Amino acid sequence: MSAQIIDGKAIAQNVRNQVRLDIEQRLKNNQRAPGLAVILVGLNPASQVYVRKKREACDEAGLISRSYNLDETTDQQTLLNLIEELNNDATIDGILVQLPLPAHIDDTLVLEAIHPDKDVDGFHPYNIGRLVQRMPTLRPCTPHGVIHMLETIGEKFKGRHAVVVGASNIVGRPMHLELLLAGATVTTTHRFTKDLATHVADADILVVAVGKPGIVKGEWVKPGATVIDVGINRLPDGKLTGDVDFETAAKRAAWITPVPGGVGPMTVAMLLRNTFMAAEKHDAS
Ligand code: NAP
Repeated sequence: MSAQIIDGKAIAQNVRNQVRLDIEQRLKNNQRAPGLAVILVGLNPASQVYVRKKREACDEAGLISRSYNLDETTDQQTLLNLIEELNNDATIDGILVQLPLPAHIDDTLVLEAIHPDKDVDGFHPYNIGRLVQRMPTLRPCTPHGVIHMLETIGEKFKGRHAVVVGASNIVGRPMHLELLLAGATVTTTHRFTKDLATHVADADILVVAVGKPGIVKGEWVKPGATVIDVGINRLPDGKLTGDVDFETAAKRAAWITPVPGGVGPMTVAMLLRNTFMAAEKHDAS
């Protein structure tokens, strides 16, 4: 292996430590601790793990997290009423609705019900629109976390070709916008893209977010590229793996993220940072 490993855990811990210091400073200034409301509907096991990690991270950083564990059968209006109540709660700076929601609830309607100033996931069309127009406010956590990782390893973006594999609303599309904002020339591929290998082979920075193990072959990777694997897939033996063939890709890349321990921890860290920023904005308004 020639690639250097990008240690997402360590980079994320630095962000979390900084948020903790920033919150300590708020308390010294007699400002309240930022508050995050976390809403989980149903008993999806992966969602339960993600929500637990987010709550633990809040505790460590000194944020106040308030949990709402709603029954799988909760109707849409009850959820919308809760969001409205939290929108009007001055002690809550961020509202997070863990996805996926049960099929009888309309995700779009729910996410758009969150006040943009409390949209710490950064999924609201207002916040995405701000990112499109190069005036980001609350930024989607995973793509912003990837940018922070790239900056940490000294990536300069300008004059570099970034290729995003996957075009979902929560990862691929905002990732494209973040890379464009940073100054890279960006290509985004999706399920209708022909000849994925050719696009991947032209990437100086490759970000893969599909959710299919091995969709990107290591031998496609451009020598010296930076490879960011956002994918998280559970194999039949219970182990986690990404979307990129790690062993072969690591022989060609200059930098590569592992799975687990790469992008995953960054997402939680950026959520804490967004909640802190939302509290600062709230207090300033
Ligand atoms: P998603 O909503 O299922 O989106 C998958 C995307 O991949 C879609 O845009 C789809 O294209 C595209 N795709 C499918 N086949 C493709 C192909 N052959 N070539 C290129 N693109 C293709 O998934 P997601 O929510 O974006 O998540 C993607 C992965 O990242 C999952 O493994 C998820 O668990 C992981 N994830 C990790 C984190 C983290 O914190 N590390 C956070 C979020 C997600 P179309 O748009 O054309 O359908």
